[in-house]
Amino acid sequence: MGEKSIKKSAVFLDRDGTVIFDKNYLRSSINIKFYAYVAESINKLRVAGFKIIIVTNQSAVRRGLLTKKDLHKINKNFLFMLHNKGAKVDGLYYCPHIDSDNCSCRKPRIGMVLEAAKDFNIDLSKSYTIGDSIRDYLLGFAMGGKGILILTGQGKKHQKNLTLEKIKPFFVCKNLKQAVNFIIKNNKKI
Ligand SMILES: [Zn+2]
Repeated sequence: MGEKSIKKSAVFLDRDGTVIFDKNYLRSSINIKFYAYVAESINKLRVAGFKIIIVTNQSAVRRGLLTKKDLHKINKNFLFMLHNKGAKVDGLYYCPHIDSDNCSCRKPRIGMVLEAAKDFNIDLSKSYTIGDSIRDYLLGFAMGGKGILILTGQGKKHQKNLTLEKIKPFFVCKNLKQAVNFIIKNNKKI
């Protein structure tokens, strides 16, 4: 049994409204704007031993607002800018579809996290999601892990709709920074 057989925990981060400001279908790298605490938060997770993976629904592609080529360019710039801030993520996965495509990857479906789990040897039951949408915490639940709803981006709007949801978030907090602090504290208890 080598070290490779030990599965890792991960934190799956939403992109828009969580790591960068929500621009309602971001279509140009010029509009990428990071929240101030992003690099510090990502590095805290890394020090705590988590893999950090971005999972993002990008239905703008299917809606014809953005080509896949342009999305790849934006994602590449996003990762480059993050790297320049001194932070690095392990992977980035996106879903280009809309609900009626019935794909397996659009959050809260677990296609993207399953792919990441295979690529990075992740134990999803010990992993978390952080995002500003109901879809994000439902993904955490669907993968057998824990989903955190944050109130940046569309978060406050989604919080108002929580009463309609059967499944509630594992935790609700102000932003990515607070979510990361919560995960680190929660993880120590186990
Ligand atoms: Zn999809």
